[in-house]
Amino acid sequence: MRRLSTFVAASVLAVIAVGIFAGSLFAQTSQGVYAACGPGQREIQASDLPEVVDQDRCPVGGREIVDGGVSAVVPGPGESVFAEAMSQRGDETLEVSNPAGDMLILGEVGSEAGAQEGSGTYTTQSSGPGACSDTYRNPWEPRLYHYLRYYFNRRSTPSYLSDLGVARAIKKAGNNVSRVRDSCGVPDRVPAVLKYRGVTRTSVNMDAGGTCRANDHKSVVGFGDLPVGYTGNTCIWSWIQDGPNRINSADVRLNEDDYRWTTRVTSSCRGRRDVESTMTHERGHTFGLGDVPESSHPNLTMSSRSNGSCQISERSLGKGDAIGLNEKY
Ligand SMILES: [Zn+2]
Repeated sequence: MRRLSTFVAASVLAVIAVGIFAGSLFAQTSQGVYAACGPGQREIQASDLPEVVDQDRCPVGGREIVDGGVSAVVPGPGESVFAEAMSQRGDETLEVSNPAGDMLILGEVGSEAGAQEGSGTYTTQSSGPGACSDTYRNPWEPRLYHYLRYYFNRRSTPSYLSDLGVARAIKKAGNNVSRVRDSCGVPDRVPAVLKYRGVTRTSVNMDAGGTCRANDHKSVVGFGDLPVGYTGNTCIWSWIQDGPNRINSADVRLNEDDYRWTTRVTSSCRGRRDVESTMTHERGHTFGLGDVPESSHPNLTMSSRSNGSCQISERSLGKGDAIGLNEKY
């Protein structure tokens, strides 16, 4: 399937034009698309839809678009949502853009990093370029303007971790990205910042299946239920009309049920995942960086698969991650 980067509000018309040439719109006349859009379907498989969906003929508002392990409720008019699921096979992504008007635009459908690289092709870190010799980056169109306020759902913390320790790790992860903390000597040229606003009882805005719900305009980080095999999910909403594509909300959930976590990796660590490392990768997404292929760039923090448990290599950005951030801001 063709893949289009569709976060660009300015390119929406161009994308629609491409969609027409590709025959995507004509595909809506097929019985399959009408079946996918049927009134009884709360969930619609992205693969059953064309890249550009005419909402007059396929009323998707309020329903969930599902693409493998990632899914999102269709955002409101003028908004876009980017859903990401971190899996041990490689991160999976889906973008759903709803510019004002009749068209809904789907991006990254079927483009899961794990799928691209084939199953079972595990790459060792030593086989790729070092973190400071790899300049590869994959910027998305949306970015943060000025700042983003966020909260921590303290009550979701697993009992074996300290609330304070987790809050500290989450804050440090945000700073690792906003201050471009790398070991390669790349300076910080990112003016946008994350502002921690304390604890909240508001849940991370996704259901137990990891589906990004409708935007509640409150950015929350916390632990909770996710499908087995997914370590963390993130949902990022942005405005795509009346100006540049600007991120307005970003939620992150870490999978509490299926993984054990730590905020301090020590020699006695057994199978635990580092909160700060995982959150640093997710904050890369919050600032508008996309995943890079694991097979060729395994040592970058934005590589599509974690380097695993009991290690902290992803707390520090690689050269491509750092350059990618500076270029965006
Ligand atoms: Zn990712």
